[in-house]
Order: sequence, then C-alpha cells, then structure tokens
Amino acid sequence: MSDCLFCRIVEGQIPSDKVYEDEELLVFKDIAPKAEVHLLVIPKIHIDGLNNLLPEDQQLMGKIMLLLPKLAEQQGLDTGFRTIINTGKGGGQEVFHLHVHLLGGSKRLPFC
Ligand code: 5GP
Ligand code: ZN
Repeated sequence: MSDCLFCRIVEGQIPSDKVYEDEELLVFKDIAPKAEVHLLVIPKIHIDGLNNLLPEDQQLMGKIMLLLPKLAEQQGLDTGFRTIINTGKGGGQEVFHLHVHLLGGSKRLPFC
C-alpha cells in the first residue's frame, strides 16, 4: 500500500533505524521514543490492525510474539519490558499498519 507510512518504510522509500529484519518482519526504532528503548515490530505485509487479522495470519502473529523477548534481551532489558498494540482510533492507533510497541529501560514506562 503506497499510501501507508509503514509499507513505505518496508519498501525503503522512507528511512528507518532498523534493528531486525527477516523475510516477514521488520523492527525499527520509533521516531519519537517514549522510553529509553522504543521499538516498533511490524509484519512486512500490510495489515491494518488486530481487527483485520485472518486465520492465516496466526503463524505470523506467533512469530512476532516469540521475537519480542529476544529483542528485549538484545536491547539489554533484563528486568522486563512493555508491549502495546493500539487498535483503531478509539484505541489510540495512529498508523494503520499493525505494529507492536516494545518499550523498556525507563523507571516509569508510559502508555503509547
Ligand atoms: P500508534 O499510535 O499507531 O500505536 O503508534 C505509531 C507510532 O509510530 C508512534 O509511536 C510514532 O512515534 C511512530 N511513528 C510515526 N511516524 C513514524 C516514522 O516515520 N518513523 C518511525 N520510525 N516511527 C514513526
Ligand atoms: Zn502498510
């Protein structure tokens, strides 16, 4: 989707500070970090949000869940971390390409 900000990041049309990439997932630093560590984990395929998941996305979502603690460890978040998925305008979602916020490293973690 050419009008989607995160699809444009996946396609390299908008630069990002990448932390991890494989054939299905991309992880990059949030442009406006709310904690010492603030990463965004996204599927490379466009999915608007949790409300738009299909049964065939189950493996992909499981892969994201398993990646999160590995990323946290790599980032040195040895005492724990926070994950947030905002869904829909009422849930605070601003970018409508499914993403998981991974936050940590601050004494008082915010909500995003
Ligand atoms: P949401 O509110 O949709 O859950 O979160 C969207 C997040 O994307 C926000 O934390 C915001 O700072 C981040 N963001 C918005 N535009 C960009 C961008 O161009 N690059 C990066 N790296 N992050 C962005
Ligand atoms: Zn997209």
